[in-house]
Amino acid sequence: MASLGIPQNTIAVLQKYQFHTQKRFGQNFLIDPHVLSKIIEASGVTKEDFVLEIGPGIGTMTQYLCESAREVAAVEIDRNLEPVLAETLGEYDNVTVIWEDVLKLDLQELVSEKNAGRPVKVVANLPYYITTPIIMGLFESGMPVERITVMVQKEVADRMQAKPGTKDYGALSLAVQYYSMPEIVANVPPNCFLPRPKVGSTVITLVRYKEPPVCVKDEALMFRIIRASFNQRRKTLANGLGNAPGIGLSKETVQECIRELGVSPSVRGETLSLKQFAELSDIIWKKQRRGAAENRASEEEG
Ligand code: SAM
Repeated sequence: MASLGIPQNTIAVLQKYQFHTQKRFGQNFLIDPHVLSKIIEASGVTKEDFVLEIGPGIGTMTQYLCESAREVAAVEIDRNLEPVLAETLGEYDNVTVIWEDVLKLDLQELVSEKNAGRPVKVVANLPYYITTPIIMGLFESGMPVERITVMVQKEVADRMQAKPGTKDYGALSLAVQYYSMPEIVANVPPNCFLPRPKVGSTVITLVRYKEPPVCVKDEALMFRIIRASFNQRRKTLANGLGNAPGIGLSKETVQECIRELGVSPSVRGETLSLKQFAELSDIIWKKQRRGAAENRASEEEG
């Protein structure tokens, strides 16, 4: 099978199967062998690896992955691609296509079934309309993911690696940087895809930390605090967190916590580093527990 990375071959396959790309599935197929090689190189995939690909499309990158990896599992939502992939991946016996919505799939179960729970590399040209839930799902699934190499919209890559105090810094930056070290591999212009997307794209690698760079007593609480802090960007930290759902503290108590952190309650969430969010989360965690203990004591007295 000739490489699909060459535009004429992609066009020929689309014509042969009368396949029309669908916007609602974010179908923009890669047609640049140079970019494909760069992604494979950045992914660090070797013949030892089990790779999860999200959205194989017509199988362009899947072919490269089959050549480089021990085994590939590719999750694709669009069943219209079945006859196409049957042909384009026909010669490989180390690939399984799973016809599912990746957001509904139990990734941890898939990996324990297919790779005995050992570390996995994820490589994908992502459907842009669901980039954030896919990335968060990969980190939070409990799946042993070692490295994620993905094509995303350029703005999203900028947000993933943004530093405090910048306009791109937000909940996604903090989540990505809690779990991994992001590194931009290449910017990719629209003419490397068919059809051309309206936005610029970037390949980014997220190397999963063995241990997160900060230590926090309650991870879920820290992420609730982060989300509440960025929910309304123009609010001060104290206004964003006071009476916020899932935190359960008055504005006054939140102000005390922020002062304990050593910053003014009138700062905005976007100025806080990951380390400061972790510290604030631990201060709030202690305050919540103290509050709960005091309530119990007064109930017993009453
Ligand atoms: N990997 C191919 C390439 O590089 O040319 C195609 C990438 S295209 C940007 C995104 C692919 O993700 C499409 O094939 C699309 O059908 C698939 N997709 C979209 N939503 C999905 C979902 N929820 N679950 C699994 N695959 C999905």
